[in-house]
Amino acid sequence: MTTIIVNSQRKAPKLHHEGFIYNRCRADGFKTTWRCEKYNFEKCRGRAISSGEVVIMAANHNHGPSPILSEVARVSQALKASASTSTETARTLALRSMEGVSEPALVLMPKMESLQKAVAASVVIRSWRSLKVEQTLTYQKPF
Ligand SMILES: [Zn+2]
Repeated sequence: MTTIIVNSQRKAPKLHHEGFIYNRCRADGFKTTWRCEKYNFEKCRGRAISSGEVVIMAANHNHGPSPILSEVARVSQALKASASTSTETARTLALRSMEGVSEPALVLMPKMESLQKAVAASVVIRSWRSLKVEQTLTYQKPF
């Protein structure tokens, strides 16, 4: 199972590790402490500590992992990353992000349409940024 950190502009970062999801709790220069996202609702005491690329589970959970939620997060993250660098259309990127995704994860994925909107929005933002920097817009993105 993969380990990823999901960053959001509105919310605190989340850590996905071994099928468990954590909210960031404390961070100093060397390590970050993460608390299980079920801490408040299910009184789970599960914790993880990360330092660079290394993540260890510091306290056990009172529930099982949800690998499918981690897969959904991984795919969404990969889609956002490709949208910020690719020159392909939103639909192509959204379709490609679905490749290799398991069926239960597909059910939980945001609808195709909203995926495309998310990609289109980030392409528009990027175009606007590059316009500001270069003062020229060389082409119109076909959505
Ligand atoms: Zn937990």
